[in-house]
Amino acid sequence: MTICTDERNCTNDVKTAIDCFMNGLIKRNPGELEFHQAVQEVTESLMPFIWNNRHYKDSQILERMTEPDRIIIFRVSWEDDQGNIRANRAWRVQFNNSIGPYKGGMRFHPTVTLSVLKFLGFEQVFKNSLTGLPMGGAKGGSNFNPKGKSDREIMRFCQSLMIELHRHIGEDTDVPAGDIGVGGREISYMFGQYKRLENRFVGTLTGKGLAFGGSLIRTEATGYGAAYFMENMLNHTGDSITGKTVAVSGSGNVALYCIKKVTDLGGKVITASDSSGFIHDPEGITAEKLVWLRELKEVKRGRIHEYAKQFKSAEFYEAKRPWDVKVDLAFPCATQNELNGEDAKQLVANGVIGIAEGANMPSTLKAIRIFLHAKVRFGPAKAANAGGVAVSGLEQSQNAMRIAWSADEVETRLIDIMKNIHTQCLRYGECDDGQLDYVKGANIAGFVKVADAMMAYGIV
Ligand code: NDP
Repeated sequence: MTICTDERNCTNDVKTAIDCFMNGLIKRNPGELEFHQAVQEVTESLMPFIWNNRHYKDSQILERMTEPDRIIIFRVSWEDDQGNIRANRAWRVQFNNSIGPYKGGMRFHPTVTLSVLKFLGFEQVFKNSLTGLPMGGAKGGSNFNPKGKSDREIMRFCQSLMIELHRHIGEDTDVPAGDIGVGGREISYMFGQYKRLENRFVGTLTGKGLAFGGSLIRTEATGYGAAYFMENMLNHTGDSITGKTVAVSGSGNVALYCIKKVTDLGGKVITASDSSGFIHDPEGITAEKLVWLRELKEVKRGRIHEYAKQFKSAEFYEAKRPWDVKVDLAFPCATQNELNGEDAKQLVANGVIGIAEGANMPSTLKAIRIFLHAKVRFGPAKAANAGGVAVSGLEQSQNAMRIAWSADEVETRLIDIMKNIHTQCLRYGECDDGQLDYVKGANIAGFVKVADAMMAYGIV
């Protein structure tokens, strides 16, 4: 039997068109499982819309949007503290710059592959569009493992990486930021090297230190934004975070500030995790405990099990994830595919009413289907975690104007942006039965702006 790989020839129905399109995409991108997963999720909600709006179909917009503008692959050679010469691979996937310069984080983690960066870059296109700011989508990173490296090793690696990357980025071309394994320290080393190589002080990276062009609230923005998105989803049906019991996974940048804002909004966060396991603190991670946890993670770079030694109310569960704990709301904030179908079933059985994805693609396709079927309010990553890149966009604006806004000013803008993203999801997310599908809403709203720009440019 011949497998249909060309959606253009498919005249049957939308379901078959999705299969044909995905067969073609898988054939063109063999073995890139994360990329396939991200495109499948988007295609399932977009294809019916595209079939009803034939100009997008006739212009092959989805085919063009799933092919990155360009991919840069390069070697990063560096020397460790023992004098050994090391070589890593790095990438920058410049996915789509139809509505603004490329924008997206850099990830340093041993699991980084081209597939992971293509999924992240593809998602970034839709997410950046949803923010309403003029930003295209990109992602980059390296299979370098920062864990256990000294500051000097990190510095040498970042400097070496920038020797190649600086040719491909710029304040009006491509503006990288942080992601897993890339925080303030790494951005500072990369920005310092960029400035030196270019002999220009411009906002080509975001997430910079406050003394050299960084924006207040950027560090907090992704986690805060996820909490605000959840508040918007609950407010829409007359509910709120106040009084809710909450599970958060991860204990990195996104998780820590998600815990902070959920707590500020009256929720009780009872879990946090890292790749070694999770802690359950039924009394809640209070503001005081969070100060201690931030010191552990951000300064001492310690492990989550130390929380349970410090606070007797908590228990540590090795090599486990927090989704068995009974909660009202859940925020997966660690990494991709950290919440599968079984986890989703358990959360639903325990009565969860809302999920907001702080991490990128933390829920598998099966998990998403279970949440949607159970009518759980489900805020997908491209909407719920867009606060980070939105404040990166605000950092770019402040750099271009050579001014710095106050924390209140930036947070007020962040609140407005998250509210606006929620409104856009409502516009396109309503289903025939009156239910709200935020996945569909975010995918279509993010798509329309980019697609219309591409249509205006002609065949590019
Ligand atoms: P960090 O590196 O600061 O933290 C990542 C956290 O996730 C750590 O607690 C880490 O534990 C845990 N983690 C990483 N890999 C795994 C794994 N395989 N299994 C279990 N836990 C894991 O990254 P961020 O907080 O910045 O990013 C987290 C997620 O949010 C990512 O998906 C990222 O793409 C997304 N995101 C981040 C934004 C930002 O502004 N930073 C913006 C938008 C999305 P350990 O320390 O043990 O590795």
